[in-house]
Amino acid sequence: MKKITLIEKINQTGLRIVACINNLPSPGSLETGPIVLCYHSIENDSWRFSVSVAEFKKQMQFLKRTKTVLPLSEIVKAKKKLKNTVALTFDDGYKNNLLNATPILSELGLPATLFVLGDSKKADRKALGNKKELLSASEIKKLHKMGWEIGFHSDAHTNLWKLTDQELEEEIVKSKKRKEKELGITLRYFAYPMGLYSEKIIALVKKAGFEAAFTVDGGASYAKDKMKIARTCVESTMKGGSFEAVVSVLGLSFQSFLMLGLRLKERARFLLKK
Ligand SMILES: [Zn+2]
Repeated sequence: MKKITLIEKINQTGLRIVACINNLPSPGSLETGPIVLCYHSIENDSWRFSVSVAEFKKQMQFLKRTKTVLPLSEIVKAKKKLKNTVALTFDDGYKNNLLNATPILSELGLPATLFVLGDSKKADRKALGNKKELLSASEIKKLHKMGWEIGFHSDAHTNLWKLTDQELEEEIVKSKKRKEKELGITLRYFAYPMGLYSEKIIALVKKAGFEAAFTVDGGASYAKDKMKIARTCVESTMKGGSFEAVVSVLGLSFQSFLMLGLRLKERARFLLKK
């Protein structure tokens, strides 16, 4: 039998990988779909979901240069796939969003959406994974006046899968009304805490009157089902070229495939524990 050379081996493996990549599931059309990015903290520390201030500035400059950055509402309301567009969202409502992200976004003229908690004092710090200072109601109002869209992220950021029907009603429906009253702002969009959702949770999000809801399932964000619009989380390790890969067609496909696996694993683990 003919001996396979190293080059042939690499070629074969390479082609196999390319074939696998080309066969990845693509929810929606990844070539033309918009991207909704999900940020958390913009701060120079070692938390997994903190993007350093300098890196955040580079990412915003890259997006401004290469894509059209739209308000989230334009992506939600779009009747067709908006080619090469991005929306910026920030989860949890960290004070560093106001201190560190706002100056950069204002300088570049980029719109953003903030998903806030109902009661920051009740915030589930274990689920959040940090003790960072959260924005006060007056600071959230200030961001709204500056043009930020404000959405809701549940009352206390607990794992919604673990709650009873009554507790879910409290976390999603009643707390939305309380927060709207406190802020004097209509909260149109919901972001599932930790990206966890189920049919029961979605039914309550609809009942609460939210017009759209966001996961962190990765991939393109054009969805017929407005209750499951995918976002891609930006983590501290996604720097420079790695960030540029995340917002590329192949990167989006890879992220969505990876998240699908992760979600299935989480759901299976949760059901087995029950
Ligand atoms: Zn969150």
